Amino acid sequence: MSMLHDPLGDYIRIVGTHKPALNRLGILTVKDLLYHFPVAYHEMSGAASVSNLVEESSVTLYGTVHRLEAKKSWTTKKTMSTAVLKDHSGQIKLQWFSQPYIAKMHDEGDMVKISGKVSFYQGKPQMTNPVIEKITKLPAASDSLFNTEDPTDLSALSPKYRETKGISSVWIYHAVKKIFSHPDFMNIEDVLPDHIKKTYSLPDLQKACIWLHTPNSLKHAEVAQKRFAFEEMFYLQVKLHQERAVVDGSPYYKIPDSHKLAAAFLKKLPFKLTEAQERVTQEITDDMKSARALSRLMEGDVGSGKTVVAAATAYAICKTHPDSQNFGGLQTAYMAPTEILAKQHFESFIEFFEGTGIKIALITGKGSYIYPSKSTPGKPTKIARTQLQKWVTAGEISMIIGTHALISEKVTFKDLAYVIIDEQHRFGTRQRQKLANKSSRVPHLLSMTATPIPRTLALTVYGDLDISIIDQVPPGRKKVETKVVAPKGQKQTFDHLRTLLQAGQQAYVVCPRIFIPDEETATDAQRALPSVEETQDYLQNTIFPTFKVGQLHGKMKPQEKDDILQDFLDKKIDILVSTSVIEVGINIPNASSIIIYGAERFGLSQLHQLRGRVQRGEHQPYCYLFTNAKNEKSIERLGYIEKSSDGFALAEADLKLRGTGDLAGNKQWGMSDLAMMALTNIALVEAAQQEAKNIVKKDITLKSYPLLKRILEKEKEVHME
Ligand code: ADP
Ligand code: MG
Repeated sequence: MSMLHDPLGDYIRIVGTHKPALNRLGILTVKDLLYHFPVAYHEMSGAASVSNLVEESSVTLYGTVHRLEAKKSWTTKKTMSTAVLKDHSGQIKLQWFSQPYIAKMHDEGDMVKISGKVSFYQGKPQMTNPVIEKITKLPAASDSLFNTEDPTDLSALSPKYRETKGISSVWIYHAVKKIFSHPDFMNIEDVLPDHIKKTYSLPDLQKACIWLHTPNSLKHAEVAQKRFAFEEMFYLQVKLHQERAVVDGSPYYKIPDSHKLAAAFLKKLPFKLTEAQERVTQEITDDMKSARALSRLMEGDVGSGKTVVAAATAYAICKTHPDSQNFGGLQTAYMAPTEILAKQHFESFIEFFEGTGIKIALITGKGSYIYPSKSTPGKPTKIARTQLQKWVTAGEISMIIGTHALISEKVTFKDLAYVIIDEQHRFGTRQRQKLANKSSRVPHLLSMTATPIPRTLALTVYGDLDISIIDQVPPGRKKVETKVVAPKGQKQTFDHLRTLLQAGQQAYVVCPRIFIPDEETATDAQRALPSVEETQDYLQNTIFPTFKVGQLHGKMKPQEKDDILQDFLDKKIDILVSTSVIEVGINIPNASSIIIYGAERFGLSQLHQLRGRVQRGEHQPYCYLFTNAKNEKSIERLGYIEKSSDGFALAEADLKLRGTGDLAGNKQWGMSDLAMMALTNIALVEAAQQEAKNIVKKDITLKSYPLLKRILEKEKEVHME
């Protein structure tokens, strides 16, 4: 496959220190380099001069450097370079952390081009870690900077890449240009089938590379981005549909009585299902008796009642005899992301299945329980893991609830017919597969999530799953009273909260960061963000000295976290200050309020998720969004959540207002930032899915697409390592 998969060193001289740096960036081959996409472009605007800089803007400046210094920061002890750039209008401070060599590479008075983001510190502009490039002449103020023939290569847009110590954006840019000029570059074969490129007017690989790395206009860069995003989505979809095709063709457990059984369960419930719950139950039971296994994602807002749908359908499985047997039941495994949640589900299922004769087990790292049992009637019994496992293996227990322990320990089943995964995005595909592999046939699979995700993201990451949506909450649920609170309103909020605490209720407080930030490297904006540490201290000692204020965050050990949550559940803690770790479906009905500090830092979906935590009990729930934000956009955005309580509408609004910044922020979806960005483009996502579907349908082994086949296999190898 030509030069694409050759080591980069075959084409570019890589000196000693470059090698480890390139490794850190994951750039080993020519392809890795070409697919190391710019994260931004700095536009050369003739107007940018030091005297009229705007905070947070990305600019390119021309001038001379002065007062170059390589030093150790006296607070962090890290090495750094500092300098000052002067142009006709003034001067700006430059600093580079961990890059002392920059000061040594330049001389006092050198003419340079500087590209980066402007921030202000104590009223003065500065740039941190900008791209610096020596030039031979300064552009005259009136020069048109576009299409310049200048030998110093002032292309219209200068790409900014993800960098590392030793490899700058300029280095990458020059390396890419060197690859472009190699005769083999034009011979690289394009994996994207021609008919697809034609249908959607996508540029071929070479053109897309050139437009992306050395664009003459942003328009070109956008077209190239579109092509690469399409390519990535397309590969992903082909893979998903191949996997789905395998599942669809495998032996499975057909449940002919699925409707009747689920209905029998529902008849005994003390409440009536919502229409949405009924519809989704129907969709699942339809699938269970169809000609292939169920593969479905159930999305539903927090509190929409997903568990009971899972229970009704699990009941149908557990009440179906295994083949050639007129007793016993098929097995269901229900996996939850935390011990506390697994325990809560265990308790719910004991209630749901009371009197049905279905045996239920709980398996977590902390111990194993069974219900019912003769030794302690009416209560769960703790039993040895080995004993429980024997029963599960023999098929004597039908309903097995647990954490990761279900897959990581040596649990084997007799007839695992149904796998239910709660808060599924917490589990990787591989773990899901592992659990599915514990069955001699393909089990039915139901993934459940309360994270409202936009349709395009659902199509992309769950393209292989059918989707059911519960878009209704049970009647009588109290709406969370939501308020955006400016700093001067905080006291009033605390006073209100105090009356609730005095009445015995509890509260969550969420902060956007854990620790107090590092003085030296933090930007002003970061310094302004409250941390769990300082907020806990402040609330405990200044605001609520007579109550107990605890803290919880992701840097704690799982055991520690579980203990704190247990204390909160047992009311030993009145206020729990935490990061957004509480967003997963934990159920603490007595917690009726939530304060979210730095609310403008969170996405609307996430805020909505967080406020769902307090909608669990009998008390009127409150959500306070603390913010220092002054800009109108942020306030307007937060206003949405004051008004709307529809998680899906908020997810879509988020995508429109903020782009995918939020989604991209966490790496859980395993997509490049570029593909994440493309999620705002529904036509593109649907096209990639449709084309992938077509190809897999016609040619599941990809016989007529050898290049595509090899690429996907290569990726698989990498992921297996
Ligand atoms: P989630 O979708 O967040 O997992 P749950 O399944 O935990 O929601 O349900 C939340 C609560 O609502 C539970 O106490 C459950 O028993 C109750 N519930 C579910 N469906 C209904 C309904 N149709 N009518 C009344 N209460 C319901
Ligand atoms: Mg739930």
